[in-house]
Amino acid sequence: MVKSISILGCTGSIGRQTIAVAEHIGMPVAALTANSRIDMLEEQVRRLKPKFVAVYDEKAAAQFKTNIADLDVKVGSGMEGLIEAATMDGTDCVVTAVSGAVGLRPTLAAIDEKKRIALANKETLVCAGEIVMKRAEEKGAEIIPVDSEHSAIFQCLMGREKGELRRILLTGSGGPFRGRPVAELEDVTPQQAVAHPNWSMGAKISVDSATMMNKGLEFIEAMHLFGVTPDDIQVVIHPQSIIHSMVELIDGTVIAQLGVPDMGLPIQLALTYPERKPSMFERLDFFSMKDMTFEAPDYKKLPCLKLAIDCARTGGTAPCVMSAANEVAVHMFLKNQLGYNRIYEAAAGAVEHVGVIQGADLDTIIAADEAARRYVRESYAK
Ligand code: NAD
Ligand code: MG
Repeated sequence: MVKSISILGCTGSIGRQTIAVAEHIGMPVAALTANSRIDMLEEQVRRLKPKFVAVYDEKAAAQFKTNIADLDVKVGSGMEGLIEAATMDGTDCVVTAVSGAVGLRPTLAAIDEKKRIALANKETLVCAGEIVMKRAEEKGAEIIPVDSEHSAIFQCLMGREKGELRRILLTGSGGPFRGRPVAELEDVTPQQAVAHPNWSMGAKISVDSATMMNKGLEFIEAMHLFGVTPDDIQVVIHPQSIIHSMVELIDGTVIAQLGVPDMGLPIQLALTYPERKPSMFERLDFFSMKDMTFEAPDYKKLPCLKLAIDCARTGGTAPCVMSAANEVAVHMFLKNQLGYNRIYEAAAGAVEHVGVIQGADLDTIIAADEAARRYVRESYAK
């Protein structure tokens, strides 16, 4: 169990749930960072008394500093602030709960300081998974997944030898538009897209869950976390989100992890691992549970999932370019600047337009990420 945590993205969905877990298990919070809901951040800081706080926006950070002038808390800003929160003395675990590729540099910096990474920010692994995993291995830093599917796979693989795994069965609910053909989704609004049937999440990941780009990002995340190839992962649609994912072993045994759909559980395990602590969450009640059903993904109806798996196979900078383009497109969609079905087009167009570089170093990856963002902004501006 870790001794103290830094939370990157403390006012978001995962950030707030992490604070609830930390308070429940009595885990001190050393640092908080956010870029939105500054009033909420102030309330968190007054309650949790971290040593350090960073607000990404410089002006907002200066204002925030004035607001909490009566407290003995250091305030930082920008990428420097995120990195300080991720690397400071007095924290041994960084919960990466920011949304998007902004999590990459602080995650690498935390790994260099051998902090445990409680990894929620999947875009980091999609963007630079090989570099992140290699660095973590070299430095001896643990990466414990927070994403519910990956936490499930991690738990199913506990005590197993690598050679015993036949394949990963990555489950996904199918989101709010499950089974609907692409042509019917032309006029989907942001409100409809963020209304997920089982999970309450931040806006970006909710849209990704609707397009199922989220499952595609998770496919790539799983490849990196568990050192497997695209052929070793099968996506399984399981609308009830009771099984959070499974592994099939070489002898045919399937091990699944089940639980109520509550991110608090994987968050808590990432902090207490290898220990387990009693939790405050609802328990699974088998007698009131409805059916558990399973379907194969219909890739014709799920172009984003197909694109992500294709990019996973292509490798190199393809996943990074796709994910960066998707991030910009989703934010444009949320601001009503882009139609729902254009999200796929923007992501696929970026991969085509920006091209793919194999064996890229970090600078090349960051340049590819920027080129993808530029492409979408320029090609899809209203
Ligand atoms: P969210 O949008 O609710 O919260 C994002 C947080 O990051 C906010 O506190 C925001 O202020 C902060 N932030 C954004 N940009 C920042 C910046 N530049 N500097 C500092 N802080 C910044 O997002 P979320 O739903 O909590 O998701 C966070 C991450 O966790 C994503 O990568 C997502 O894919 C992953 N994840 C989320 C869930 C979920 O249930 N919400 C599940 C699995 C994985
Ligand atoms: Mg997930």
